[in-house]
Amino acid sequence: MTSEIKVSLFPESQRPEAQAQTARAALRVEHLTKYFGEQRILDNISFSLAEGESLVLLGPSGSGKSTTLRILAGLETPDTGEIFLNGRHIAHLRARERNIGVIFQDYALFPRMTVIDNIAFGLKIRRVKKRQRLAKAEELLAMVGLSEHRDKYPGQLSGGQKQRIAIARAVAYQPDLLLFDESFSALDPQTRVALRREIRALLQRLRIPAIFITHDQEEAMELGDRIAILNAGKLEQIGTPYEVYNHPQTEFVATFLGAANVVPGRWCGRVIELGNDRTLPGPEAVAPVQTTDVKVVFRPEDIILAHPNVPSVLGAETPLSLGRGEVQEITFTGAAETLLVKLLPRATAGLTLAAQDGKVTQNFIVKVTRSKWDADKLRLRAGDQVFVGLRHYQILRG
Ligand code: ADP
Ligand code: MG
Repeated sequence: MTSEIKVSLFPESQRPEAQAQTARAALRVEHLTKYFGEQRILDNISFSLAEGESLVLLGPSGSGKSTTLRILAGLETPDTGEIFLNGRHIAHLRARERNIGVIFQDYALFPRMTVIDNIAFGLKIRRVKKRQRLAKAEELLAMVGLSEHRDKYPGQLSGGQKQRIAIARAVAYQPDLLLFDESFSALDPQTRVALRREIRALLQRLRIPAIFITHDQEEAMELGDRIAILNAGKLEQIGTPYEVYNHPQTEFVATFLGAANVVPGRWCGRVIELGNDRTLPGPEAVAPVQTTDVKVVFRPEDIILAHPNVPSVLGAETPLSLGRGEVQEITFTGAAETLLVKLLPRATAGLTLAAQDGKVTQNFIVKVTRSKWDADKLRLRAGDQVFVGLRHYQILRG
């Protein structure tokens, strides 16, 4: 009966330091800390990057993403910490000695140079002979699909084209690492999606490790072999998009990457209490020695809605029940529908839930998403009553 329930316990906290020891890491960042004045901007950041791997730094504005990238590029100095690129200690090197390519949002192409000269520029200052550098530049131009724009100036190109040239220019001198700081955010959505697919394919072909910064979670999921989530200068979690989405280790990660319902509860014995009259079966085989405050986390798509008179249809899919609810709001978003559902007191009619220990759990509202097919099976409007079931939940420390 319980085969459908998947309860994740407090996940083991990952140790980025341990990962950084892996022998074949292309990049190892160890214990980076950075202050601006009194303010600690980066707090003991460690991670590593495998050969050819792409990592996305995701976090809210001001969380320290650009500062991390600027330190790697040599544009900013860390207060403490070490950086190793292909085993080479680089933290003391100047930017141009690091062999790292940086692609910013604003292209930064040379406006008075043609496209081909822009791409060849890095090779020129590295004293590559003219014929060789032009041949290399032509090859890269073809690779980013812009050969016919060879002799144009940057001002004559679209945003997406300029960014392709910037990437070709950065790749030209075979950098050991590429850094992208919000490189796609000035582009229109279609160009942006197309370009990031191209970049991903290009990087896989060239086997250049890369770090992308974005605050767009869809972009993060698509670009990153792994995602590192930064919050106020701290690395909250690093993992594959699947791990980070399905096993968030903190409330911040759960709510920043996708939507999540987070309800305070108490785990005692075999059950988890939510408020006075609502319980969920706790994880089997383990029970806390003493009552523990927890946060019960579930995603909008983890909820199943059923007609209140036939809640048994849920039974086949999940024995986890949150009882009855009332639909507050429905938003149609195309492939799916989003609902806000207020959970109703389960006990005798008229009896309101008392909040215990200051834990506000009475009449909490949960966010639900349903596919259009599920929505078709049970059409709902605001004001309708439903039965609310849960396919899965996760517990975090309270
Ligand atoms: P993000 O890229 O994640 O938006 P940043 O790394 O740019 O964040 O900035 C992190 C924090 O550091 C912000 O609070 C920002 O105001 C501050 N900061 C960045 N650069 C400087 C600087 N040169 N001097 C002082 N404060 C800075
Ligand atoms: Mg930034």
